[in-house]
Amino acid sequence: MDFEYTPEQVQLRRAVRQFAEAEILPHVMEWDEAQTFPLETIHKLGKLGYLGSIFPEELGGAGLGYVEYSIIIEELSRVDGSVGIIVAAHTSLCSNHIFKMGDDEQRRRYLPKLATGEWIGCWSLTEPEAGSDAAGTRTKAILSGNEWTLNGAKTFTTNAHYADVCVAMAVTDRGAGQHGISAFIIEKGAPGFRTGKKENKLGLRASATGEVIFSDCRLAGSQLLGKRGEGFVDSLKVLDGGRISIAALSIGMAQGAYDAALKYSKVRKQFGRPISEFQAIQYKLVDMATELEAARLLNYRAATMLDRGERVTRQSAMAKLFASEAAVRIANEAVQIHGGYGFIKDYPVEKFYRDVKLCTIGEGTSEIQRLVIARQLLKD
Ligand SMILES: Cc1cc2nc3c(=O)[nH]c(=O)nc-3n(C[C@H](O)[C@H](O)[C@H](O)COP(=O)(O)OP(=O)(O)OC[C@H]3O[C@@H](n4cnc5c(N)ncnc54)[C@H](O)[C@@H]3O)c2cc1C
Repeated sequence: MDFEYTPEQVQLRRAVRQFAEAEILPHVMEWDEAQTFPLETIHKLGKLGYLGSIFPEELGGAGLGYVEYSIIIEELSRVDGSVGIIVAAHTSLCSNHIFKMGDDEQRRRYLPKLATGEWIGCWSLTEPEAGSDAAGTRTKAILSGNEWTLNGAKTFTTNAHYADVCVAMAVTDRGAGQHGISAFIIEKGAPGFRTGKKENKLGLRASATGEVIFSDCRLAGSQLLGKRGEGFVDSLKVLDGGRISIAALSIGMAQGAYDAALKYSKVRKQFGRPISEFQAIQYKLVDMATELEAARLLNYRAATMLDRGERVTRQSAMAKLFASEAAVRIANEAVQIHGGYGFIKDYPVEKFYRDVKLCTIGEGTSEIQRLVIARQLLKD
Protein backbone atom coordinates (compact mmCIF):
# COMPACT_ATOMS: atom_id res chain seq x y z
CA MET A 1 0.00 0.00 0.00
CA ASP A 2 1.54 3.28 -1.05
CA PHE A 3 -0.37 6.52 -0.67
CA GLU A 4 2.23 8.76 -2.31
CA TYR A 5 2.00 10.26 -5.79
CA THR A 6 5.03 9.65 -7.96
CA PRO A 7 7.02 12.75 -9.01
CA GLU A 8 5.62 12.24 -12.52
CA GLN A 9 2.05 12.28 -11.21
CA VAL A 10 2.73 15.48 -9.25
CA GLN A 11 4.17 17.05 -12.37
CA LEU A 12 1.22 15.87 -14.48
CA ARG A 13 -1.27 17.42 -12.06
CA ARG A 14 0.67 20.69 -12.10
CA ALA A 15 0.81 20.76 -15.90
CA VAL A 16 -2.91 20.03 -16.38
CA ARG A 17 -3.83 22.58 -13.71
CA GLN A 18 -1.73 25.25 -15.41
CA PHE A 19 -3.34 24.47 -18.76
CA ALA A 20 -6.86 24.51 -17.29
CA GLU A 21 -6.34 27.79 -15.46
CA ALA A 22 -4.73 29.50 -18.45
CA GLU A 23 -6.77 28.11 -21.34
CA ILE A 24 -10.15 27.13 -19.88
CA LEU A 25 -10.88 29.30 -16.83
CA PRO A 26 -11.18 32.62 -18.72
CA HIS A 27 -13.94 31.14 -20.95
CA VAL A 28 -15.93 28.97 -18.55
CA MET A 29 -19.01 31.15 -18.09
CA GLU A 30 -19.11 32.34 -21.69
CA TRP A 31 -19.06 28.71 -22.94
CA ASP A 32 -21.65 27.71 -20.34
CA GLU A 33 -24.10 30.45 -21.20
CA ALA A 34 -23.78 30.13 -24.97
CA GLN A 35 -23.47 26.31 -24.79
CA THR A 36 -20.28 26.57 -26.82
CA PHE A 37 -18.46 23.30 -27.38
CA PRO A 38 -14.76 24.09 -26.79
CA LEU A 39 -13.49 22.36 -29.92
CA GLU A 40 -10.21 24.27 -30.17
CA THR A 41 -9.36 23.48 -26.53
CA ILE A 42 -10.13 19.79 -27.05
CA HIS A 43 -7.77 19.72 -30.04
CA LYS A 44 -5.09 21.37 -27.88
CA LEU A 45 -5.61 18.73 -25.19
CA GLY A 46 -5.10 16.11 -27.88
CA LYS A 47 -1.82 17.66 -28.99
CA LEU A 48 -0.64 17.66 -25.35
CA GLY A 49 -1.35 13.92 -25.07
CA TYR A 50 -4.24 14.26 -22.63
CA LEU A 51 -6.77 12.49 -24.85
CA GLY A 52 -4.80 9.29 -25.16
CA SER A 53 -3.35 8.96 -21.67
CA ILE A 54 -4.36 5.31 -21.17
CA PHE A 55 -3.29 3.97 -24.57
CA PRO A 56 0.12 2.63 -25.59
CA GLU A 57 2.59 4.96 -27.26
CA GLU A 58 2.64 2.89 -30.47
CA LEU A 59 -1.05 3.76 -30.89
CA GLY A 60 -0.47 7.46 -30.30
CA GLY A 61 -1.19 7.36 -26.58
CA ALA A 62 0.87 8.39 -23.56
CA GLY A 63 1.20 4.89 -22.10
CA LEU A 64 -0.05 5.95 -18.68
CA GLY A 65 -2.62 4.36 -16.38
CA TYR A 66 -5.99 5.12 -14.84
CA VAL A 67 -4.49 7.00 -11.88
CA GLU A 68 -2.90 9.48 -14.29
CA TYR A 69 -6.07 9.54 -16.37
CA SER A 70 -8.07 10.35 -13.20
CA ILE A 71 -5.64 13.18 -12.38
CA ILE A 72 -6.22 14.66 -15.85
CA ILE A 73 -10.03 14.44 -15.57
CA GLU A 74 -9.94 15.85 -12.01
CA GLU A 75 -7.84 18.86 -12.93
CA LEU A 76 -9.88 19.71 -16.03
CA SER A 77 -13.13 19.32 -14.08
CA ARG A 78 -11.83 21.41 -11.17
CA VAL A 79 -12.07 24.29 -13.63
CA ASP A 80 -14.81 23.11 -16.00
CA GLY A 81 -16.78 19.86 -15.72
CA SER A 82 -17.89 20.25 -19.34
CA VAL A 83 -14.33 19.78 -20.55
CA GLY A 84 -13.98 16.88 -18.11
CA ILE A 85 -16.99 14.99 -19.46
CA ILE A 86 -16.01 15.62 -23.09
CA VAL A 87 -12.58 14.08 -22.46
CA ALA A 88 -14.07 11.25 -20.38
CA ALA A 89 -16.62 10.16 -23.00
CA HIS A 90 -14.02 10.45 -25.75
CA THR A 91 -11.31 8.51 -23.90
CA SER A 92 -12.70 5.89 -21.55
CA LEU A 93 -15.87 5.12 -23.52
CA CYS A 94 -15.33 5.53 -27.27
CA SER A 95 -11.55 5.14 -27.63
CA ASN A 96 -11.26 2.54 -24.89
CA HIS A 97 -14.03 0.36 -26.36
CA ILE A 98 -12.07 0.30 -29.65
CA PHE A 99 -8.79 -0.31 -27.81
CA LYS A 100 -10.17 -3.15 -25.67
CA MET A 101 -12.38 -4.93 -28.17
CA GLY A 102 -11.11 -3.81 -31.57
CA ASP A 103 -8.97 -5.92 -33.91
CA ASP A 104 -5.48 -4.75 -34.93
CA GLU A 105 -6.75 -3.01 -38.03
CA GLN A 106 -9.42 -1.09 -36.11
CA ARG A 107 -6.95 -0.09 -33.41
CA ARG A 108 -4.47 1.15 -35.99
CA ARG A 109 -7.11 3.05 -37.95
CA TYR A 110 -8.82 4.80 -35.03
CA LEU A 111 -6.61 5.00 -31.94
CA PRO A 112 -3.83 7.27 -33.26
CA LYS A 113 -6.37 9.82 -34.52
CA LEU A 114 -8.48 9.67 -31.34
CA ALA A 115 -5.51 9.72 -28.96
CA THR A 116 -4.12 12.87 -30.55
CA GLY A 117 -7.45 14.64 -30.82
CA GLU A 118 -7.44 14.73 -34.61
CA TRP A 119 -10.75 12.90 -34.31
CA ILE A 120 -13.33 13.20 -31.56
CA GLY A 121 -15.22 10.15 -30.36
CA CYS A 122 -18.62 9.43 -28.84
CA TRP A 123 -20.22 6.31 -27.38
CA SER A 124 -23.92 5.54 -27.76
CA LEU A 125 -25.61 3.01 -25.55
CA THR A 126 -28.61 4.87 -24.11
CA GLU A 127 -31.89 5.01 -26.03
CA PRO A 128 -35.12 6.83 -25.20
CA GLU A 129 -36.67 3.56 -23.95
CA ALA A 130 -33.44 1.93 -22.75
CA GLY A 131 -31.57 3.90 -20.09
CA SER A 132 -30.81 2.04 -16.87
CA ASP A 133 -32.11 -1.06 -18.63
CA ALA A 134 -29.62 -0.71 -21.47
CA ALA A 135 -30.13 -4.35 -22.49
CA GLY A 136 -33.54 -3.17 -23.74
CA THR A 137 -31.80 -1.60 -26.76
CA ARG A 138 -34.07 -1.36 -29.80
CA THR A 139 -31.70 -0.05 -32.47
CA LYS A 140 -31.17 -3.01 -34.75
CA ALA A 141 -28.50 -4.10 -37.18
CA ILE A 142 -29.15 -6.58 -39.99
CA LEU A 143 -26.39 -8.33 -41.92
CA SER A 144 -26.84 -9.01 -45.62
CA GLY A 145 -23.83 -10.24 -47.50
CA ASN A 146 -20.96 -8.39 -45.92
CA GLU A 147 -22.90 -5.24 -45.14
CA TRP A 148 -24.74 -4.18 -41.98
CA THR A 149 -27.82 -1.96 -42.05
CA LEU A 150 -28.60 -0.09 -38.84
CA ASN A 151 -31.95 1.46 -37.95
CA GLY A 152 -32.88 3.23 -34.72
CA ALA A 153 -31.89 6.14 -32.53
CA LYS A 154 -29.73 6.79 -29.50
CA THR A 155 -30.24 9.57 -27.01
CA PHE A 156 -28.06 11.53 -24.57
CA THR A 157 -24.80 10.81 -26.40
CA THR A 158 -21.98 13.04 -25.13
CA ASN A 159 -19.98 14.64 -27.99
CA ALA A 160 -22.53 13.38 -30.57
CA HIS A 161 -22.56 16.54 -32.65
CA TYR A 162 -18.79 16.93 -32.77
CA ALA A 163 -17.77 13.30 -33.12
CA ASP A 164 -15.85 11.93 -36.07
CA VAL A 165 -16.28 8.40 -34.75
CA CYS A 166 -19.20 6.86 -32.90
CA VAL A 167 -19.28 3.50 -31.16
CA ALA A 168 -22.90 2.37 -30.91
CA MET A 169 -24.69 -0.72 -29.68
CA ALA A 170 -27.44 -2.40 -31.73
CA VAL A 171 -29.44 -5.62 -31.57
CA THR A 172 -28.10 -8.22 -33.99
CA ASP A 173 -29.88 -11.30 -32.64
CA ARG A 174 -33.23 -10.54 -31.08
CA GLY A 175 -34.13 -13.32 -28.70
CA ALA A 176 -30.52 -13.81 -27.55
CA GLY A 177 -31.04 -11.23 -24.77
CA GLN A 178 -27.86 -9.63 -23.49
CA HIS A 179 -25.88 -11.76 -25.94
CA GLY A 180 -27.84 -10.45 -28.90
CA ILE A 181 -26.40 -6.94 -28.87
CA SER A 182 -23.30 -5.97 -30.87
CA ALA A 183 -21.08 -2.91 -31.04
CA PHE A 184 -20.32 -1.00 -34.24
CA ILE A 185 -17.90 1.73 -35.24
CA ILE A 186 -19.57 4.41 -37.34
CA GLU A 187 -17.64 7.20 -38.99
CA LYS A 188 -19.07 10.66 -39.55
CA GLY A 189 -20.44 10.78 -43.09
CA ALA A 190 -21.50 7.12 -43.19
CA PRO A 191 -24.67 6.89 -45.31
CA GLY A 192 -27.81 7.03 -43.15
CA PHE A 193 -25.96 8.28 -40.07
CA ARG A 194 -26.77 11.68 -38.57
CA THR A 195 -27.18 13.52 -35.31
CA GLY A 196 -30.53 14.87 -34.12
CA LYS A 197 -31.62 17.09 -31.26
CA LYS A 198 -28.91 18.68 -29.13
CA GLU A 199 -30.18 18.87 -25.54
CA ASN A 200 -30.51 22.14 -23.61
CA LYS A 201 -29.15 21.13 -20.23
CA LEU A 202 -29.17 22.15 -16.56
CA GLY A 203 -25.41 21.82 -16.36
CA LEU A 204 -22.29 20.77 -18.24
CA ARG A 205 -23.70 23.04 -20.89
CA ALA A 206 -20.53 23.42 -22.94
CA SER A 207 -20.52 19.68 -23.54
CA ALA A 208 -22.83 18.57 -26.34
CA THR A 209 -25.36 15.87 -25.49
CA GLY A 210 -27.79 14.62 -28.05
CA GLU A 211 -29.34 12.17 -30.45
CA VAL A 212 -27.61 9.87 -32.88
CA ILE A 213 -29.87 8.55 -35.63
CA PHE A 214 -29.51 5.57 -37.96
CA SER A 215 -31.83 5.46 -40.98
CA ASP A 216 -30.82 2.53 -43.17
CA CYS A 217 -27.26 3.31 -42.13
CA ARG A 218 -25.00 1.03 -44.15
CA LEU A 219 -21.71 -0.19 -42.75
CA ALA A 220 -19.08 -2.57 -44.08
CA GLY A 221 -18.82 -5.87 -42.20
CA SER A 222 -15.47 -4.74 -40.84
CA GLN A 223 -17.20 -2.04 -38.72
CA LEU A 224 -18.45 -4.65 -36.25
CA LEU A 225 -16.50 -4.02 -33.03
CA GLY A 226 -15.67 -7.10 -30.95
CA LYS A 227 -17.54 -10.37 -31.31
CA ARG A 228 -21.05 -10.46 -32.68
CA GLY A 229 -23.51 -10.59 -29.77
CA GLU A 230 -20.98 -9.44 -27.18
CA GLY A 231 -21.45 -5.67 -27.53
CA PHE A 232 -23.56 -5.31 -24.41
CA VAL A 233 -21.31 -7.45 -22.23
CA ASP A 234 -18.29 -5.56 -23.57
CA SER A 235 -20.07 -2.29 -22.76
CA LEU A 236 -20.33 -3.33 -19.12
CA LYS A 237 -16.56 -3.93 -19.08
CA VAL A 238 -15.98 -0.53 -20.71
CA LEU A 239 -18.23 1.06 -18.07
CA ASP A 240 -16.06 -0.40 -15.29
CA GLY A 241 -13.34 2.01 -16.45
CA GLY A 242 -15.85 4.71 -17.40
CA ARG A 243 -17.10 4.87 -13.82
CA ILE A 244 -13.60 5.69 -12.63
CA SER A 245 -13.71 8.70 -14.93
CA ILE A 246 -17.12 9.82 -13.59
CA ALA A 247 -15.71 9.49 -10.06
CA ALA A 248 -12.76 11.65 -11.18
CA LEU A 249 -15.19 14.13 -12.78
CA SER A 250 -17.08 14.31 -9.46
CA ILE A 251 -13.88 14.72 -7.43
CA GLY A 252 -12.58 17.46 -9.75
CA MET A 253 -15.78 19.49 -9.53
CA ALA A 254 -16.03 18.93 -5.77
CA GLN A 255 -12.43 20.14 -5.41
CA GLY A 256 -13.25 23.27 -7.42
CA ALA A 257 -16.29 23.96 -5.25
CA TYR A 258 -14.36 23.28 -2.03
CA ASP A 259 -11.41 25.50 -3.04
CA ALA A 260 -13.80 28.35 -3.84
CA ALA A 261 -15.69 27.94 -0.56
CA LEU A 262 -12.50 27.78 1.54
CA LYS A 263 -11.16 30.94 -0.09
CA TYR A 264 -14.45 32.79 0.27
CA SER A 265 -14.86 31.81 3.92
CA LYS A 266 -11.56 33.53 4.75
CA VAL A 267 -12.41 36.84 3.08
CA ARG A 268 -16.14 37.17 3.77
CA LYS A 269 -16.66 39.04 7.02
CA GLN A 270 -19.86 39.05 9.08
CA PHE A 271 -20.27 40.07 12.72
CA GLY A 272 -16.81 41.64 12.46
CA ARG A 273 -14.85 38.53 11.56
CA PRO A 274 -14.24 36.14 8.68
CA ILE A 275 -17.02 33.54 8.46
CA SER A 276 -14.29 30.84 8.55
CA GLU A 277 -13.98 31.63 12.27
CA PHE A 278 -17.51 30.36 12.91
CA GLN A 279 -17.54 26.73 13.96
CA ALA A 280 -20.63 26.05 11.83
CA ILE A 281 -18.64 27.01 8.71
CA GLN A 282 -15.52 25.13 9.86
CA TYR A 283 -17.56 21.94 10.31
CA LYS A 284 -18.87 22.26 6.79
CA LEU A 285 -15.34 22.68 5.44
CA VAL A 286 -14.15 19.71 7.48
CA ASP A 287 -16.90 17.43 6.19
CA MET A 288 -16.30 18.58 2.61
CA ALA A 289 -12.53 17.99 2.83
CA THR A 290 -12.98 14.59 4.49
CA GLU A 291 -15.48 13.34 1.91
CA LEU A 292 -13.27 14.61 -0.88
CA GLU A 293 -10.30 12.72 0.51
CA ALA A 294 -12.33 9.52 0.95
CA ALA A 295 -13.69 9.76 -2.61
CA ARG A 296 -10.18 10.19 -3.98
CA LEU A 297 -8.83 7.19 -2.08
CA LEU A 298 -11.68 4.95 -3.25
CA ASN A 299 -11.15 6.03 -6.83
CA TYR A 300 -7.36 5.67 -6.87
CA ARG A 301 -7.77 2.20 -5.43
CA ALA A 302 -10.14 1.22 -8.25
CA ALA A 303 -7.80 2.88 -10.77
CA THR A 304 -4.75 1.07 -9.39
CA MET A 305 -6.53 -2.28 -9.50
CA LEU A 306 -7.62 -1.66 -13.09
CA ASP A 307 -4.04 -0.79 -14.04
CA ARG A 308 -2.98 -4.12 -12.56
CA GLY A 309 -5.45 -5.82 -14.90
CA GLU A 310 -7.94 -6.80 -12.19
CA ARG A 311 -11.74 -6.72 -12.62
CA VAL A 312 -13.03 -3.65 -10.79
CA THR A 313 -16.81 -3.83 -11.19
CA ARG A 314 -17.43 -3.47 -7.46
CA GLN A 315 -14.63 -0.99 -6.73
CA SER A 316 -15.38 1.34 -9.62
CA ALA A 317 -19.13 1.30 -8.86
CA MET A 318 -18.36 2.10 -5.21
CA ALA A 319 -15.99 4.90 -6.20
CA LYS A 320 -18.52 6.36 -8.63
CA LEU A 321 -21.42 6.06 -6.18
CA PHE A 322 -19.56 7.61 -3.25
CA ALA A 323 -17.71 10.30 -5.20
CA SER A 324 -20.78 11.51 -7.09
CA GLU A 325 -23.06 11.62 -4.05
CA ALA A 326 -20.32 13.32 -1.99
CA ALA A 327 -19.67 15.84 -4.78
CA VAL A 328 -23.34 16.83 -4.86
CA ARG A 329 -23.22 17.40 -1.08
CA ILE A 330 -19.94 19.33 -1.33
CA ALA A 331 -21.21 21.62 -4.10
CA ASN A 332 -24.38 22.21 -2.09
CA GLU A 333 -22.39 23.24 0.99
CA ALA A 334 -20.09 25.40 -1.15
CA VAL A 335 -23.15 27.39 -2.27
CA GLN A 336 -24.34 27.59 1.36
CA ILE A 337 -20.98 28.96 2.53
CA HIS A 338 -21.24 31.68 -0.13
CA GLY A 339 -24.67 32.71 1.15
CA GLY A 340 -26.56 34.82 -1.41
CA TYR A 341 -23.45 35.20 -3.52
CA GLY A 342 -23.47 31.44 -4.03
CA PHE A 343 -26.64 31.93 -6.03
CA ILE A 344 -25.04 34.50 -8.30
CA LYS A 345 -23.14 33.72 -11.47
CA ASP A 346 -20.21 35.99 -10.58
CA TYR A 347 -19.01 33.17 -8.30
CA PRO A 348 -18.05 29.72 -9.57
CA VAL A 349 -20.02 27.61 -7.10
CA GLU A 350 -23.46 27.92 -8.70
CA LYS A 351 -22.06 26.27 -11.84
CA PHE A 352 -20.46 23.43 -9.89
CA TYR A 353 -23.81 22.95 -8.13
CA ARG A 354 -25.58 22.58 -11.50
CA ASP A 355 -22.87 20.59 -13.27
CA VAL A 356 -22.17 18.03 -10.58
CA LYS A 357 -25.67 16.57 -10.53
CA LEU A 358 -24.96 14.69 -13.76
CA CYS A 359 -22.46 12.53 -11.87
CA THR A 360 -25.18 10.72 -9.91
CA ILE A 361 -26.96 9.96 -13.22
CA GLY A 362 -24.52 9.38 -16.11
CA GLU A 363 -22.88 5.99 -16.71
CA GLY A 364 -25.41 4.41 -14.38
CA THR A 365 -27.46 6.21 -11.75
CA SER A 366 -26.70 5.89 -8.04
CA GLU A 367 -29.58 3.41 -7.81
CA ILE A 368 -27.98 1.28 -10.52
CA GLN A 369 -24.55 1.50 -8.86
CA ARG A 370 -26.13 0.13 -5.68
CA LEU A 371 -27.69 -2.65 -7.72
CA VAL A 372 -24.29 -3.49 -9.29
CA ILE A 373 -22.55 -3.43 -5.90
CA ALA A 374 -25.28 -5.51 -4.25
CA ARG A 375 -24.92 -8.18 -6.93
CA GLN A 376 -21.17 -8.29 -6.34
CA LEU A 377 -21.54 -8.45 -2.56
CA LEU A 378 -24.12 -11.23 -2.70
CA LYS A 379 -22.06 -13.14 -5.27
CA ASP A 380 -19.03 -13.06 -2.98
C1 LIG B 1 -25.47 14.89 -19.73
C2 LIG B 1 -25.63 13.43 -20.02
C3 LIG B 1 -24.65 12.77 -20.74
C4 LIG B 1 -24.80 11.42 -21.07
N1 LIG B 1 -23.86 10.82 -21.87
C5 LIG B 1 -24.10 9.55 -22.34
C6 LIG B 1 -23.25 8.97 -23.32
O1 LIG B 1 -22.24 9.56 -23.75
N2 LIG B 1 -23.57 7.75 -23.80
C7 LIG B 1 -24.66 7.05 -23.37
O2 LIG B 1 -24.89 5.95 -23.86
N3 LIG B 1 -25.49 7.59 -22.43
C8 LIG B 1 -25.24 8.81 -21.91
N4 LIG B 1 -26.09 9.38 -20.98
C9 LIG B 1 -27.24 8.62 -20.52
C10 LIG B 1 -27.18 8.16 -19.07
O3 LIG B 1 -26.23 7.13 -18.93
C11 LIG B 1 -28.60 7.75 -18.67
O4 LIG B 1 -29.35 8.94 -18.57
C12 LIG B 1 -28.64 6.98 -17.37
O5 LIG B 1 -28.05 5.70 -17.54
C13 LIG B 1 -30.06 6.81 -16.85
O6 LIG B 1 -30.96 6.38 -17.82
P1 LIG B 1 -32.34 7.18 -18.04
O7 LIG B 1 -32.01 8.61 -18.19
O8 LIG B 1 -33.09 6.52 -19.11
O9 LIG B 1 -33.12 7.00 -16.66
P2 LIG B 1 -34.07 5.79 -16.24
O10 LIG B 1 -33.38 4.50 -16.49
O11 LIG B 1 -35.40 6.00 -16.85
O12 LIG B 1 -34.16 5.99 -14.67
C14 LIG B 1 -35.12 6.85 -14.05
C15 LIG B 1 -35.02 6.63 -12.53
O13 LIG B 1 -35.39 5.27 -12.22
C16 LIG B 1 -34.32 4.66 -11.49
N5 LIG B 1 -34.28 3.23 -11.83
C17 LIG B 1 -34.29 2.66 -13.07
N6 LIG B 1 -34.20 1.33 -12.98
C18 LIG B 1 -34.11 1.03 -11.65
C19 LIG B 1 -33.97 -0.17 -10.89
N7 LIG B 1 -33.89 -1.37 -11.48
N8 LIG B 1 -33.91 -0.09 -9.55
C20 LIG B 1 -33.97 1.12 -8.92
N9 LIG B 1 -34.10 2.30 -9.58
C21 LIG B 1 -34.16 2.26 -10.91
C22 LIG B 1 -33.08 5.40 -11.92
O14 LIG B 1 -32.03 5.23 -10.98
C23 LIG B 1 -33.59 6.82 -12.00
O15 LIG B 1 -33.62 7.38 -10.72
C24 LIG B 1 -25.94 10.72 -20.62
C25 LIG B 1 -26.91 11.38 -19.85
C26 LIG B 1 -26.77 12.72 -19.57
C27 LIG B 1 -27.86 13.41 -18.80
